[in-house]
Amino acid sequence: MAAPELVWFRNDLRCRDQAALAIAREQGPVVAVYCFCPEQLVLHGVGGNRVAFLLRCLAALRGELDALGIPLRILETGHFSAVPSALLALARRIGARRLWFNDEYPLNEKRRDDAVEDAFVAAGLAVERLSDTVIRAPGSVLTRQHTPYTVFTPFRRRWLEGIRPEDLAPRALPKRQQRPDIDSDPIPRLPAGFDGGSAATLWPGGEAPALERLQRFADDDLETYAQTRDFPALEGTSTLSPWLAVGAVSPRQCVHVALEKNEGRLDGGSPGAATWITEIIWREFYRHVVAAFPHVSRGHAFRREYDMVAWRSDADQLEAWRQGRTGYPLVDAGMRQLASMGWMHNRLRMVVAMFLSKNLLLDWRLGEAHFMAELVDGDFASNNGGWQWSASTGTDAAPYFRVFNPVTQSRRFDPEGHFIRRYVPELAGLEGSKVHAPWQARGKSLEYPPPIVDAAASRRRAIEAFRNLGS
Ligand SMILES: Cc1cc2nc3c(=O)[nH]c(=O)nc-3n(C[C@H](O)[C@H](O)[C@H](O)COP(=O)(O)OP(=O)(O)OC[C@H]3O[C@@H](n4cnc5c(N)ncnc54)[C@H](O)[C@@H]3O)c2cc1C
Repeated sequence: MAAPELVWFRNDLRCRDQAALAIAREQGPVVAVYCFCPEQLVLHGVGGNRVAFLLRCLAALRGELDALGIPLRILETGHFSAVPSALLALARRIGARRLWFNDEYPLNEKRRDDAVEDAFVAAGLAVERLSDTVIRAPGSVLTRQHTPYTVFTPFRRRWLEGIRPEDLAPRALPKRQQRPDIDSDPIPRLPAGFDGGSAATLWPGGEAPALERLQRFADDDLETYAQTRDFPALEGTSTLSPWLAVGAVSPRQCVHVALEKNEGRLDGGSPGAATWITEIIWREFYRHVVAAFPHVSRGHAFRREYDMVAWRSDADQLEAWRQGRTGYPLVDAGMRQLASMGWMHNRLRMVVAMFLSKNLLLDWRLGEAHFMAELVDGDFASNNGGWQWSASTGTDAAPYFRVFNPVTQSRRFDPEGHFIRRYVPELAGLEGSKVHAPWQARGKSLEYPPPIVDAAASRRRAIEAFRNLGS
């Protein structure tokens, strides 16, 4: 066999529309590799739901690669620092002269990738780095002054202006090869300390279930997405985020299917398709932010002055929030959805994040970490961006004085209380609008806590804490 091309899979666990795999395969036979780094996952606070899902996707990927005659080697490297030497040793063992991978943008991932490139180049081997976890690479969407955008709306405009048809065309499945004499490795077991069993059946691994879900969403729900997306009881969103987070489906495949339903239009046309494409562009925006502003990967507020907010410390309130026992039904329903599914509807992510960072005035990083520990779709850029948006510390953030009222949000986005009654069964017997504010249900004895803070007073306290910092 000719020297194989070595393709390193990371958060791009698919065979269709995978740039590194497709282009490497055009050069010759391929051997695939994945580096499993449980110690690094612990350091990044990634929880069991996400890791278990990742392993299910890896198993499906091995099957897909097998069908193409491509072996998948799995290196258990513990920590990112061990990756360069492990990859280099594998390249030497199989006689590969070139390594291919798609770039990732958080700081530790970038440093790991730079170290891998240095090690390969020093050993006289080639490295091909591509951009594929986004449709438009960081650095390619800049202001007229050639600076990165920090506000979404002009970013989106520019993103749309510069797009070329070839950016949106998914790549075909690579052609089958004659299998080299190299075995695939077994899929690692979920390491001790990660608990990820609860949501397994909801989130099957691999690109086949992702593509099926994408098509079903496009056929059934895309048209009405703009009207339904904010109402958690309606289940009007795609729920594709876990597959997008590990790359079992690509953003290009998503946009391609939406374009088919919108006469090829990215903007305008069907409000459902255009709004959904805008959400994919939000995902791109946060990746561009992470690439351009490494301090957000170091735990800092995007707007550094907000590192000075005097966050409170209150272990009991933090625990009540985590458990969904704050006494605010929509907040609690959202947190219990997270606990039972490993996933939460976007409207509720904003509501619970604002409640933690504003009404409780607890550090948004505590919430970011809890989400990362629980979410099946945990994704550094989107999670950090979403938390900093909600806490008013980030790019394009909600202004600090605009604090969602948890009862108003509840009346607006779960008007009949269907979602609340599903996730907070203690309130199932409350009729009408009392489900949004159960403390008004006088005479009823409920197994449900009173509110842990007063919404109006805590709002004033938050505004006071933020008032002079941003100026
Ligand atoms: C505090 C907070 C934390 C978040 N943490 C994460 C996270 O860890 N991982 C994650 O994938 N998303 C995160 N989001 C963004 C968003 O809530 C989810 O992507 C969305 O709820 C996933 O559901 P869906 O797949 O049905 O989305 P759809 O509405 O069907 O949207 C399609 C895709 O677009 C992307 N997307 C949608 N909304 C956003 C957004 N606001 N920002 C970035 N990308 C978006 C997602 O990849 C999503 O799958 C967070 C949002 C907030 C406010």
